[in-house]
Amino acid sequence: MAVAQYRHSEKGRERHFTGATDLPRITFEQVEKSYGPVRVLPPLDLAFDDGEFTVLVGPSGCGKSTTLRLLAGLEELSGGEIFFDGKPISGLEPKDRDIAMVFQDYALYPHMNIARNMSFALRLARVPRRDIREKVQRVADMLNIGHLLDRKPAELSGGQRQRVAMGRALVRDASTFLFDEPLSNLDAKLRAKMRTELAEMRDRIDKNMVYVTHDQIEAMTLGDRIVVMNEGLVQQEGTPEDLFKRPVNKFVAGFIGTPTMNFLDGTLVDEGGMLRVRGDGFDLAVSQAQRARLEGHRGKDVSLGVRPTSFTRDPDATNTIDLNVAVSEYLGSNSVLVTRCGGAEVQVELSSATPIRAGTVMTFGVEADDILLFDAQSGRTL
Ligand code: ADP
Ligand code: MG
Repeated sequence: MAVAQYRHSEKGRERHFTGATDLPRITFEQVEKSYGPVRVLPPLDLAFDDGEFTVLVGPSGCGKSTTLRLLAGLEELSGGEIFFDGKPISGLEPKDRDIAMVFQDYALYPHMNIARNMSFALRLARVPRRDIREKVQRVADMLNIGHLLDRKPAELSGGQRQRVAMGRALVRDASTFLFDEPLSNLDAKLRAKMRTELAEMRDRIDKNMVYVTHDQIEAMTLGDRIVVMNEGLVQQEGTPEDLFKRPVNKFVAGFIGTPTMNFLDGTLVDEGGMLRVRGDGFDLAVSQAQRARLEGHRGKDVSLGVRPTSFTRDPDATNTIDLNVAVSEYLGSNSVLVTRCGGAEVQVELSSATPIRAGTVMTFGVEADDILLFDAQSGRTL
């Protein structure tokens, strides 16, 4: 197994591999999938860089598992083709694709102990027994389950079973690993812990990894690159930072980031050469930098997007909005406020050491640069 090394640069994390990679570059061209008359994936184009950890993220039912299963060969394509280094693979059996997959429900054999569960594929492939033992032990130790090899799955906790499922895939020296929501059966605390462990593991393993989840926090913390899907369509691809700072539409803006972005309906107005966005209970200036892009949209209906963390209590702020605090949750170092602006609800998150009283109208500053505007009809970012 080659080892990936990391360097931190201004652009963020960059991977540098010590060995030449012989991993296939995977591409989807116009891939379609229908079940009977129901089309699940419209023609879908995807490209995965070799050695990349790619996360497919989107709401339940958007076609993530289908995409993985097509790649693994567990489902047949209804149209288009998948290529490994330019070679079509739809004629290949799953076992000939050099892919290992971790399923959401783990799919462990209850009557086999952990060692036998983990070595199943290696035994099928008639790998020498000593190599199997050595490999299983090494991967199990990496996953902190090395001491559990004699137990049966039923004697393990949910988190340990999850590691076994992961280990069973990792002992196979496949070039490409597919993960289908591997953490979704764990409770919140364990999920966070396993997420951290996965992030560490990712940095040590130089393989193609495609990870599917509906959880945008997992996507943001694990992905070198994230592909956001909705209803079978790719909404946007990019680094976590791209998606957070430059969402291409309202769907991505609302899907990525916690707490979720607020949206307010308004109209873009020109006041003495300054563009403002105005709506029920607010009137905010738009940054000069956005002016050129917004020229054609004067007088049009827009949706205004502001993240809960973009509100400030800066007394010198010139761009302000009055919000009626309905609920105030004081969490110690910060407060989460549910407020009203006209008829709309607006969430505010402030780092503030003192509790804020509910039932008051408060003035908040908003940097013009922190405002996103979307076309009211198409949802496209303006
Ligand atoms: P996700 O993994 O993003 O939650 P899936 O890829 O599992 O979504 O499913 C996408 C859509 O395809 C869903 O609407 C689902 O109901 C449908 N679907 C998945 N598998 C089948 C099947 N075997 N037969 C019919 N419809 C299916
Ligand atoms: Mg799924």
